[in-house]
This record gives sequence, C-alpha cells and structure tokens, in this order.
Amino acid sequence: MQQFKNLREMMAVYSDENICREYMEQMRWGGNPTCPFCGMNKPYRLKDGKRYRCRDSKCKRNFTVTVGTVFEDSKVKLSVWMAALYLCTAHKKGVSSHQLARDLGITQKTAWFVLHRVRLLMGDPEPDVPLDNVVEVDETYVGGKWEKMSRKRRAKHQESGTDNKVAVMGLLERDGKAKLTVIGQKTFKDVVRDNVAPSAVVITDAHKSYIGLNTEFQAHEAINHNIMEFRRGIAYTNSVEGFFSVFKRTIFGTYHQISPKHLSKYCNETAYRFNTRKMTDAERFKQVISNPQGRLTYNQLIQKNEQQ
Ligand SMILES: [Zn+2]
Repeated sequence: MQQFKNLREMMAVYSDENICREYMEQMRWGGNPTCPFCGMNKPYRLKDGKRYRCRDSKCKRNFTVTVGTVFEDSKVKLSVWMAALYLCTAHKKGVSSHQLARDLGITQKTAWFVLHRVRLLMGDPEPDVPLDNVVEVDETYVGGKWEKMSRKRRAKHQESGTDNKVAVMGLLERDGKAKLTVIGQKTFKDVVRDNVAPSAVVITDAHKSYIGLNTEFQAHEAINHNIMEFRRGIAYTNSVEGFFSVFKRTIFGTYHQISPKHLSKYCNETAYRFNTRKMTDAERFKQVISNPQGRLTYNQLIQKNEQQ
C-alpha cells in the first residue's frame, strides 16, 4: 500500500479504481475481509476481483468493500470519493458543494450527495466518553436574520414573540476534546449532564440556567462577563469562545445559510475539525476513511429512510 503526504501524491497513485478498491479494503478490513451481513471472515473472492461471497452456508451473500459504508450504492467513482474525502478533511473551514463540484469536475448535485455522506464520517470516534477535568461551557445563537425572512414569516415571528435563532452549546475539556451540540428542547443543565463527567470542574458564564451545577459536579465556577469579569484563577471561558469563533466562521464563511435541521451535522463537523487540528491532512484522511462510526450512522440513516 503506497503512502502519500498530500492530495497530489494521493491522486497520482489512487486514480485507478482497482488500486482505490485495494486501499479501501486494507483500511476497512486490514487484510482480513469480513462479511458485512453476518461477520464471517475468509470469504471466497469472485472472478471479477471486486466481489466476495460469504462462505457461511446460511448467508452465502455477495458483497464488496463498499457494502454497509457511506460509499455504498453510488455511481461516484472510488477515486472521486477519495479525493473528496481528502479535500473535505483538509480544508480548515470546510468545502461547499459548489466548490467541490468545481474542484472535482462533478455536478453540484453529486457534490452535495458526496458531502452529505462524507460528513457522516467526520463524527466523534468516542461519542459516549464524557468530558472531564476542567470543562468550559458556553452557549451561542445561530441564525435568526430577520432581513432574510419573507414579510409574512417575519410578521408571524414578531406576533408569537419567538425568534428563529437556534441555541448551540459548546463544551470544551481544557487540553482535551470539544463538543458542539444543538440545545433544542433540553435545558442547559441537561446538556451539561449528558456530556460532562460528575468529577469535572465546570466553568460557565453567569446565565441563570446554570445555577445548581455545583451540587452535581465537583465544582462549578460562573464568570460574570456583565461586570467585566473575565478571569478568576482557573475560571475563564476563553478556550470555548475561541472554538465558537471557528464555528461561526465556518457557518458564515463557507455554508452561508443552514437550516436548523442540518445544524447538528455542521456542529459535528466543526468539532471534528477542531479536535483533529494537530493531525496532518494525511493522518486525518486515514482516520476518516477507516472510521467505523460513520458506517453505523449510515445504517441508522438508511433504516430511518425505510421507515418513512
Ligand atoms: Zn455472511
């Protein structure tokens, strides 16, 4: 398997579909092809060189390396998938479907499809591991631009007194990983409980919704920005504020307008970029292409679509 350090080197080697397939097989199975339907290994290789047949007498199903992955059931060439993955993971602020279409010479519709799936691979490899030690928490609001609304919609919002802004919470373990999550119907405290270990020291702003966290966590420090307080010993939220500024630049700089429905995906993508910022582009690419979490998410997505 040939190593590469940048996009040019990757595209020079991985332009041939068979070489791409071998690379993906190596990344997914590490030389031990496994049936995605029943988990049996050592399948028979079919004559076309692409497909395998499960040797389990009850299963006997045929499969390729893309079955059960985000690359399944698409007419997009594997070499295009690989280049797209590289571009999406290497760009610090993400790539729009229009940009990707121009870069790869594909239609915008195909680029949208590709981006949507690549985003599934950019998840947290350990979503259930809570943040610990010193955790900075802050909230921000996205969207809600009145001037972009139709007059009718604006009137409706003004009448009901609701805003179409969406609240997003950022949680950052100092010298550790960060998470971004849409608050939705949950309370601020619920989101903190869902993502932070009780042994952690939690640092927030002085928002009333955080009051009482000290009884559930090792300690809770609130910084009151309103009285120009920004730092008290270890209590400050500068790191999570820096993380938010990356998030806002991503949304406004690259994606412009995002519907609340898709916002959580962009949250994951931003957190992923932030958490892998010390990796090289090639390392990040390899992590994404061999990330099993993406396949799990994809299976769930498919199931949901079938139920509808
Ligand atoms: Zn099988």
